[in-house]
Amino acid sequence: MGKEKVTEMFGSMVFNEEVMRQRLSATCYKAWKKCVDEGTPLSLETAHEMAAEMKNWAMDRGATHFTHWFQPMTGVTAEKHDSFITPEGSGQVLMGFSGKELVRGEPDASSFPSGGLRATFEARGYTAWDPTAFAFVKDGSLCIPTIFCSYSGQALDQKTPLLRSQEELSRQAVRVLRLFGDTEVKKVISQVGPEQEYFLIDKDVYNQREDLILTGRTLFGTRPPKGQELEDHYFGTIKPRVAAYMKELDEELWKLGILSKTKHNEVAPAQHEQAPIYSDANTACDHNQLTMEIMKKVASRHNMVCLLHEKPFAGVNGSGKHDNWSISTDTGMNLFRPGSTPSQNARFLLFLAAFIKGVDEYQDLLRCSVANPGNDHRLGAQEAPPAIISIFLGDELTAIVDSIIHGTSYVEQGKKSLSIGVDALPAIPQDTTDRNRTSPLAFTGNKFEFRMLGSSQSISGPNTALNTIMAEELAQFADELEGAEDFAAALHDLVKKTLTNHQRIIFNGNGYEDAWVQEAEKRGLSNLTCTADALKAYLQPKNVELFTKHHVFTEEELAARNEIHLENYCEVIGIEARTMIDMVKKNIFPAVSRFSGTTASNVAAKKAVLTDLDCSDEESLLKNLSRLTAEMMKETRVLEEALAAPQGNDAYEAAHYYRYTVFESMSRLRAAVDELETITAKEDWPYPSYTDLLFSVK
Ligand code: ADP
Ligand code: MG
Repeated sequence: MGKEKVTEMFGSMVFNEEVMRQRLSATCYKAWKKCVDEGTPLSLETAHEMAAEMKNWAMDRGATHFTHWFQPMTGVTAEKHDSFITPEGSGQVLMGFSGKELVRGEPDASSFPSGGLRATFEARGYTAWDPTAFAFVKDGSLCIPTIFCSYSGQALDQKTPLLRSQEELSRQAVRVLRLFGDTEVKKVISQVGPEQEYFLIDKDVYNQREDLILTGRTLFGTRPPKGQELEDHYFGTIKPRVAAYMKELDEELWKLGILSKTKHNEVAPAQHEQAPIYSDANTACDHNQLTMEIMKKVASRHNMVCLLHEKPFAGVNGSGKHDNWSISTDTGMNLFRPGSTPSQNARFLLFLAAFIKGVDEYQDLLRCSVANPGNDHRLGAQEAPPAIISIFLGDELTAIVDSIIHGTSYVEQGKKSLSIGVDALPAIPQDTTDRNRTSPLAFTGNKFEFRMLGSSQSISGPNTALNTIMAEELAQFADELEGAEDFAAALHDLVKKTLTNHQRIIFNGNGYEDAWVQEAEKRGLSNLTCTADALKAYLQPKNVELFTKHHVFTEEELAARNEIHLENYCEVIGIEARTMIDMVKKNIFPAVSRFSGTTASNVAAKKAVLTDLDCSDEESLLKNLSRLTAEMMKETRVLEEALAAPQGNDAYEAAHYYRYTVFESMSRLRAAVDELETITAKEDWPYPSYTDLLFSVK
């Protein structure tokens, strides 16, 4: 494909700023621009013109329908399509799309999770156009990015809190920048680049696995003889079928204006990664949702299935998402870039100190923002960061932080200590080679990489948390510094005090080691290993205060989110448990008893010919089969009973019950079944093996 082709293709399905500039009247375009830049409301007239042009443009691209595209709390996107047709007397139709239809929609959305925010009598939520995100055409529909709220204005989606947090971060960061004499910056924006991991397996093999179809992960399966030990897959040559998939994926993403940039093989067999060039958090969030959707669609066209579950295979690395996050100004300054002048560095150190303080104070909230049942399999399992939050700064920056704390020299012995705002920092290498992959939050030169996200989750929650935490710390700093007589001295003291008080959150060592778990405990860091406990952060008074103060969530919205996630946790584990029981009863038990039957008849047949024949191998196999079958059936009954028993008095207790009773029972059942798989003939085992799955794409 030539250069022109990509540039032509890029964004061809997006009603972006350039399209608006060309197609809208100057008045309409300016009104939109003002709305986006300054938050001024749009008139209905402007919306009418916008809608009419959007429709014409979309029809040129084959669209016959429009949909308000939104991101409810299910984790995936939702759409309800309406055609443009409007009756026009004498049996004819016109294609129409009004400003009203653009701005507001009322899907019959009573079945989306609301965590009690909507009583059934007012079950309809409404969607409202987000003019800061571009509309696009997908599968014959004009998709309009929207927020989704209840009638009383409570957020029922992922996007609303993210937008609110962006605004608040901007407000507080601008206050701080003014203190440094900056009069130009109007807006500060968090920038996000999410790296997305996924597995690709052959559809024919996938279709034979009930567990993958129903739950997205394998509930049974013994480790393959070859897994990821040789590390020959990581960054390895991409197989032709996968390469063809990645090429088409890129093209589909480019058409939607998604800056898809990087693709490579990951650590586990059949595991890959895609990453775009970063963009503002709102766009990044929309684009990541679209990317996940398109990944699945394109895979299907190639007779493959894209698995986005956090842990599709036991004993093989699961998939995560790295959320690269930074904040920049509308004038293009990255506020996490260590600069070359004393004043730039003072600013950098202030933002760094705010981040360190925020992460330390809201560890539980960040952990909560990545809690889902799939991620419980990864965090702390030596393949992803532990469930303990800490920050990796790298040696150079840590040395600087230490010198500030102790007032000691930071480069060579004998040099004076660093005076913030007066001295320049020594150069901090852009990209520290010592990339610590075990850290949950790593400084990588000019951004932080939040590495705890699960591959399937929306990036909205974690970025909402990061933005809000940062907004709070900047607000506190601004409060303190705005009244200072000597700004430089006050800043120095503030940074020194902050780093001293919060240095426990900095950790540059190996996060996979047990020693770190003990060390973190000594430091008093939180270690929330299960979703149910992590979700409690939604209800902690300090977190409620944080979110309500900055108008990101109301107390009711937080309680609703807690409820939704806890219920989801129970549902997911419940579905997995029932799927296991079904697989055992319908397929595994019959298969194993068939195999035992054949083995037994073989022994009997042989002994009928030669009575003293040694059949001890078959006999011991038979014994093992029957012992493990009994074990499997016992554990199946235990699991059935666990599911039937009362499950706690509230959502939290229920989630705990699912984690510590149901899930534990599932693990025991799995152990028996997996051992059975190792001694049952391949032709009798009813499901494709891990080898079949992981090496299915040639
Ligand atoms: P690695 O795998 O080494 O962590 P990648 O190149 O795969 O790195 O991904 C890095 C991601 O970080 C990309 O999405 C990139 O666009 C993004 N990124 C780079 N600079 C910034 C920044 N200043 N703010 C936010 N994201 C950034
Ligand atoms: Mg990375």
